[in-house]
Amino acid sequence: MALIDVRNLKKTFPIHGGVLGRKVGEVVAVDDVSFSVEPGETLGLVGESGCGKSTTGRTIMRLYEPTAGEVEFAGKKLFQLKAEELRQVRRDLQMVFQDPFASLNPRQKISAILEEPLIVHGLGDAQERKEQVRELLHVVGMNESHAGRYPHQFSGGQRQRIGIARALSTRPKLIIADEPVSALDVSIQSQVLNLMMDLQEQFELTYIFIAHDLSVVKHISDRVGVMYLGRLVELAPRDELYKKPLHPYTEALLSAVPVPDPDAKKERIILSGDVPSPDNPPQGCAFHPRCPHVMDVCRETRPIFDDAGGGHFVACHLHNAKA
Ligand code: SF4
Repeated sequence: MALIDVRNLKKTFPIHGGVLGRKVGEVVAVDDVSFSVEPGETLGLVGESGCGKSTTGRTIMRLYEPTAGEVEFAGKKLFQLKAEELRQVRRDLQMVFQDPFASLNPRQKISAILEEPLIVHGLGDAQERKEQVRELLHVVGMNESHAGRYPHQFSGGQRQRIGIARALSTRPKLIIADEPVSALDVSIQSQVLNLMMDLQEQFELTYIFIAHDLSVVKHISDRVGVMYLGRLVELAPRDELYKKPLHPYTEALLSAVPVPDPDAKKERIILSGDVPSPDNPPQGCAFHPRCPHVMDVCRETRPIFDDAGGGHFVACHLHNAKA
C-alpha cells in the first residue's frame, strides 16, 4: 500500500491588478497532478524552473493551501485535517529546502535548531533531547562540537547536513526534499546525495526528491516524474525513463544531459521558444508550441496521462494513439 497518494492536485495563485487590486486572473501552478509513492521508495520530480514541482511539494505539506485534489498520507486525508491534527502528522512528514542558509534561523545555535522540532512535538525531556541532538549530528557526519555554533559558521554542504538532521529529528516516514543539492558545488552534491541514500536505508525513509537536474534525480530515484507547465507529462521507473523516454519534452531534457564518455555520440534536441506563461497556457497539449512532433490534434485536445505499459505513464497523443 502506498505511503502517500496524491490525487488530482491543483494549486492556483490569484493575479491582482487595477487600482482596487481586484483579481484579474490566476496562475495555474499545479494542475491535476496524481501519483503515489510506496514505503521506502524515492520518487524524483523533475522539470524546468516554474514547472510546478516545488509548488507540488509545498502544497502536499500544506505550506500552500490546495485549490483542489486530495492527498492521503499514511491513511490520513491531509487536506481535511484541522490545525492540531496537521501538526501531529507533520512529525511523520518533513521537508528539506533548497537554500539551507535561508531555512536555518541565523540567530539560533545548531543545538537549538535541532532541538526545536523535538520540543514542538513533545519528544523527550531536556537530557534526552540533548542526546538526540548529539546523535543527529553524528548520523549526518558532523560532531558534537558543532552544536554550539551558528549557521553562518558552516559551509553550504554542512548547512544542508544540518537541514537534513533537522528533518530527521522527529523520525519522519516521508521527507520531501526540494532541490536539496542545487545550491551546492558539484563535488559536495554527491556527498549530500550519498548521505541521503544512506539515511534512507538506516531510517527506512521514503523520499519525494525535487530537482531540475536530471542527472541528480537519476542518482537517487526509483521512479521519476517529469513536469511541464504544472502537469505531470511522464512518470516511469528510473531506468525505463532514461533509456526509453516517451514524451518529446523528456527526450529533449535528456538530450541535454552530458554523458561521461567523450566518444559517445548524442544529438542534442534544441527546443524552440520559451516555456509559455502559466497564466495563459496553450490550448490542447501545453507543450505543442515547442514540440518537434506536433500534430493537429495536439493544438486542440489535451492528451490524457495514460499507462503506456509497465507503469510507464505519458501524456502525449503519439502514445495515446498507439494505445
Ligand atoms: Fe508533442 Fe503532441 Fe505529444 Fe504534445 S501531444 S508532446 S504536442 S506530440
